Amino acid sequence: VAPILLHFLYSTATPYTTLPSVLLLGPPGAGKTALTTLFERGPQDPSTVSGPIAKTHTSQVPSSIELSINSDDPATSYKTNLDEEGATAKKFLLVDTPGHPKLRAQSLVHLSSAEPTIKSSLVSDGGAKSKIKAVVFMVDAAALADGDALPATAEYLYDVLLTLQKRFHSRNGSRAPASMPVLVAANKLDLFTALPAALVKSSLEAELGRIRAARSKGLLDSGVGQDDLAAGEEGDWLGGDGSEKFSFAQMMEFDVDVDVIGGSVTGDGPGAEKWWKWIGERV
Ligand code: GDP
Repeated sequence: VAPILLHFLYSTATPYTTLPSVLLLGPPGAGKTALTTLFERGPQDPSTVSGPIAKTHTSQVPSSIELSINSDDPATSYKTNLDEEGATAKKFLLVDTPGHPKLRAQSLVHLSSAEPTIKSSLVSDGGAKSKIKAVVFMVDAAALADGDALPATAEYLYDVLLTLQKRFHSRNGSRAPASMPVLVAANKLDLFTALPAALVKSSLEAELGRIRAARSKGLLDSGVGQDDLAAGEEGDWLGGDGSEKFSFAQMMEFDVDVDVIGGSVTGDGPGAEKWWKWIGERV
């Protein structure tokens, strides 16, 4: 219990205003809360922890936790106690957002500006905002395997990527917006029914392509001309023009760098270290 208490006291005493954040998005049930809990408890042995457990929150505001990476070596496990190791820690916030469809628009608003920021629940003084450095979009690779979850998951991801794409055109003076890395974290790979990361990637790309075609057809049906669509910086066409198939690589044109990495939070699976390293290299 003592380390938790210390951690808590320490946390509340730290000024958060300058810490960067990583935004955690994804459909309900993907494992966002589980991941947050895992990273937060990292240095402890889970079997001896008796402190409060992060619960799936139904609140309307994002909840944040403060985490530290080893700034000399981002690949250092989240389980490592950096203080004990005498390592230089770099702190950041992991901001867990409500996955409920009705609340998604609020999460996306944070991503739409040239310099995306979020007001963290940890920031107590008014007005202080944290700069968003990366987005982790978590998916349930087992639910994707049976196909039912694919359309809804892809719809959400489409909106996230389209928001980031549109953001690319919103310039702050002459400065182009900073690039935004996106990690699609294919979770629950401990389950043998789960799709491997490569299939999660190709299924999502195919479904995003279908959504793209359907949405542009909707626009054509509603009287928006081909020329308008082609001109369409502000259109809803995700990715590069003229491409028949959608691929995440097309997002590079808009400085949105998408990686798909598999892992697991619970069970006997590949674990969460690769996600941790990805995050550590970007905060
Ligand atoms: P959230 O709605 O995205 O916050 O999802 P939760 O964190 O509440 O997780 C939803 C459910 O998935 C819970 O029952 C978790 O225990 C379970 N879960 C999360 N991660 C994993 C995983 O890696 N493997 C398995 N098998 N279950 C997981």
